[in-house]
Amino acid sequence: NLSKRLACVASYLSGVTKVADIGSDHAYLPCYLCLKNEDCYVVAGEVNEGPYQSAKAQVRQAGLCDQIDVRKGNGLAVLREEDGIEAVVIAGMGGPLIVDILTEGREALKNVHTLVLQPNVAAQVIRLWCVAHHWTLIAEEMIEEDGKIYEVLVAKKESGKRQALSAADLLLGPFLREEKSAVFRKKWSDEVASWTRVLAQLDKSQDPIAASEKRQKIEENIALVREVLQ
Ligand code: SAM
Repeated sequence: NLSKRLACVASYLSGVTKVADIGSDHAYLPCYLCLKNEDCYVVAGEVNEGPYQSAKAQVRQAGLCDQIDVRKGNGLAVLREEDGIEAVVIAGMGGPLIVDILTEGREALKNVHTLVLQPNVAAQVIRLWCVAHHWTLIAEEMIEEDGKIYEVLVAKKESGKRQALSAADLLLGPFLREEKSAVFRKKWSDEVASWTRVLAQLDKSQDPIAASEKRQKIEENIALVREVLQ
């Protein structure tokens, strides 16, 4: 059974038949997509030997070798133009690593129309990347599973105008902050509490200039969150 987190990712891929799952690890997502839809073809990319072997074993065991191509390599470098990939998934990593993979592999995204990105932390850097590279966020979800909170961001290649996102949109998510779900409120109340503890630590800092810069940034973020949570 697929985790709630990966099921949420999969829900944005219905109807897409050419998918790349970068950092696929156990290849659960590709197997799920291909068992559900026999027309689906997935390239599962892995940079590390252990997860690469585990993906291959899982695909073999599921009898899906015809539908899933497990390839070893760094990020989007495993993709070839003739794969005709329409949607790229990068899930279960930190936001900065996802952004590095997207930036290094920009060429491979030429014919891709959908990105489904699931950062474990720092979703805001992904939103910033999307705006800067002409991808439009079309959906966001925040889910809680086993005591952890995850975000899923879906972006489409932009045709016209660049999406305008405010500072609050970038930090909290334009859709998530409108929706203000219970889990969203929980995540951001916890963040404010943790930032407040950091502020107290900064008061004791030995480097007052660095501390005052950090303080300003944190105070700005707290103000953004408080306004949205009101
Ligand atoms: N995507 C799966 C999921 O969401 O359940 C697995 C997430 S796992 C925590 C992250 C995987 O990404 C690891 O297996 C790691 O080897 C792989 N990875 C990290 N950096 C990568 C890169 N630059 N290219 C391809 N895979 C990478």
